[in-house]
Amino acid sequence: MRIDKLLSNMGYGSRKDVKILLKQGAVRIDDAPVKDAKRHVDPESERVTVFGEVVEYRPYIYFMMNKPEGVVSATEDQVETTVIELIDPEYAHYDLFPVGRLDKDTTGLLLITNDGAFNHALMSPRKHVDKVYIAEVDGEMTAEDIKTFANGVELEDGYTTKPAQLEILSRSGRRSVIRLTLSEGKYHQVKRMVAAVGKHVERLERVQIGELELDETLELGAYRELTEEEVQLFV
Ligand code: URA
Repeated sequence: MRIDKLLSNMGYGSRKDVKILLKQGAVRIDDAPVKDAKRHVDPESERVTVFGEVVEYRPYIYFMMNKPEGVVSATEDQVETTVIELIDPEYAHYDLFPVGRLDKDTTGLLLITNDGAFNHALMSPRKHVDKVYIAEVDGEMTAEDIKTFANGVELEDGYTTKPAQLEILSRSGRRSVIRLTLSEGKYHQVKRMVAAVGKHVERLERVQIGELELDETLELGAYRELTEEEVQLFV
């Protein structure tokens, strides 16, 4: 990779800013000053420093966000605020994208990265990564619904869902709070499954993806980097 691209990717400013650093003699590769922006560097085997400070090369970055309501799970949108806009611009050079989608009105665990392989590991239907949701439902969820969901429920478009695990966490009057574990991610799946048994999702939150739980210390709209161990859960 070119030295100017590497430094720009690592947050040392635009290519133009990096050119100035190079001209100043601030950049060294294996202790030799480098002035040529086109110089190729192998960040795995060569040691790059800027003003004597070692540049830690990190090609990929991984965040978990507690997605708030009212923002869309997209990289760009003409009208709506996107989850990517909630991330500090200091990370803009990473070309982040959300891993999968939550509806605009769904809150909770959303992963954001620039690692396509990580995205694939989570999203590929063949990998069977379970997603866990808590929903507030208008309507009384029943033992019959637990069986229906376990057997697969036919949605309005004729698709029959894969077996899903439904737990009724509480019920009071016409309202129920449920925990639903899905092994697939069809469009509006939770809302459509609940609608298929004649009830309506009023609030939806994703709380877990595979073994990874939403960090409850994250306020809505806040995010943090995944730890090394958390990333390893999916690779
Ligand atoms: N199912 C839904 O209906 N909405 C979501 O955002 C996620 C799963």
